[in-house]
Formats: sequence, C-alpha cells, structure tokens
Amino acid sequence: MPAVSVQNVTKRFGDTVAVENISFEIPEGEFVVLLGPSGAGKSTLLRILNGLTQPTEGTVHINDNPVTGRRSDVGMVFQMHYLVETMSAYRNALTGALSRVSLVESLTTQYERSDKLAALEALDTVGLLDEARQRAGSMSGGQKQRVGIARALVQRPNLLLADEPVASLDPKAAEEVMGYMKTAAHERDLTTVASLHQVNLAREFGERYIGLRDGQVVFDGGRDDLTMDV
Ligand code: ADP
Ligand code: ADP
Repeated sequence: MPAVSVQNVTKRFGDTVAVENISFEIPEGEFVVLLGPSGAGKSTLLRILNGLTQPTEGTVHINDNPVTGRRSDVGMVFQMHYLVETMSAYRNALTGALSRVSLVESLTTQYERSDKLAALEALDTVGLLDEARQRAGSMSGGQKQRVGIARALVQRPNLLLADEPVASLDPKAAEEVMGYMKTAAHERDLTTVASLHQVNLAREFGERYIGLRDGQVVFDGGRDDLTMDV
C-alpha cells in the first residue's frame, strides 16, 4: 500500500484551474521534491494532501484512508515559519504535540514527558539542541525553519509536507535546511513532499521529482532524468 495515493485530482477556483487531473502514488519513506515555477499549483496540491483544501474532483488517500479534512498525522512546514517569537526553540517545538492535546489543555499545557523528549530529540535532529533555550525571535531565518521542522516532527507525522520551506533563505541556509529535512526524514523513514522552485537546490536533495507546470504533472522521475528546464 502506498503512503500517499492521489487519483485524478483537479482543483478549480472559479475559472482558474490550479491543479488539473493529477495522479501519482508515493511509497512509504520516499523523499519527493515537488518542482515548479510560481503559480504551478504546488501550494494547492500540498494543501489538498493535508486536507486544508478539498479537491473539486478526484481523491487522495494517506495510508489507505481517504483525506476528508485536516489530518493530525500530517506535519506541515511553511515558508513563513509561524513560530511564537517570544518562546524558546524548545517551547515552539513542543507545540507540535498540541494536535494531541485539547485547546483548553494547551492554555495551561502539561506536556507529556514523551512529548518533551520528542521535542529535544527533534531539536537534536535539526542540529539545534544547544540552542533549545534560545528565543525563536533571536534566531536566524534558517534556524527558525529548522525549529519549524522540529515542531512538525514532534507531531509524530506519517507524512511530512513542506511548502517552499527555503524560499526566503539565502542559498547557504537553504542548503542547510534541506539537508536537515532530508536527514530527519531518513532517520524516521518519514514520507516527505517538499516543494521548491530552485532546480539547482532540488538536484542535491531529491530522490524523486514531480514537476508541475500550469497545474499539470510535466515530469515524474529520478535525479538522473532531471533536466534544467523542469
Ligand atoms: P504555487 O504554489 O506553485 O505557486 P498555487 O497552488 O499557489 O501555485 O497556485 C496555482 C494557481 O491557482 C494560481 O493561478 C493561483 O493564482 C491559483 N490559486 C491558488 N489559490 C487560490 C485561491 N484561494 N483562490 C483563487 N485562485 C487561487
Ligand atoms: P513545564 O513542565 O513546567 O511546562 P518545562 O520543563 O517543559 O516546564 O520548561 C520550562 C522552561 O525551560 C521552558 O521555557 C523550556 O524552554 C525550558 N526547558 C526545559 N527543559 C529544557 C531542556 N532540556 N533543554 C532546553 N530547554 C529546556
């Protein structure tokens, strides 16, 4: 059974076709880079995978379960990190556990010991254990994205989605963040889909590439098949 199965998915916003008749399957543990220029439909597809947007047509299954709404077992990393700047890296990472705690509980949260350990482990995975007590607001852009990855890991996802996670970073920080994400995914055998628009960066990190253009899949293959004009 594939970890992700997308069958004939189309999403329209009025007259705009954001994604058109897309189908693919992703086996468990695969690290997929979703490549395409701005407006290609990457965000829309990721939001459909996460249940944040309903497709107009078609179906999405995660581990054989149809996606019908927001899923707590899907972790998401955004271009904008959405960290609480006044909280420590550790506290921010811990909030990944909130999907399993009620909203009321979260106000006075007593996190489980296992969640605290998971937060520290996740910070270790992204190379920020020594910075655990540092305020997110005082961190670099790359460090913030790494905290965002740690937070997604604390959620114990079955699927990790990253929507242009390095778009606002300089090339060196972008490479670092992608490297940590790949390590994290491999360590946990975590199925990952990360969207990027930079082909050069993508070349270094993908195992499989799905190229989108004008809402359609124009490429689906391995690194050796990747051409510059995807
Ligand atoms: P990408 O992430 O590759 O930049 P998007 O998925 O954001 O692409 O957008 C794909 C197309 O769908 C674009 O033409 C965009 O303007 C359109 N679109 C995306 N979201 C909406 C929306 N909520 N309402 C209307 N049009 C949208
Ligand atoms: P409580 O269980 O009372 O909510 P915590 O022990 O989780 O408190 O955290 C208290 C503060 O100490 C937080 O601001 C957190 O960022 C920091 N903290 C706790 N444990 C660690 C740790 N092992 N490494 C880094 N910072 C930590």
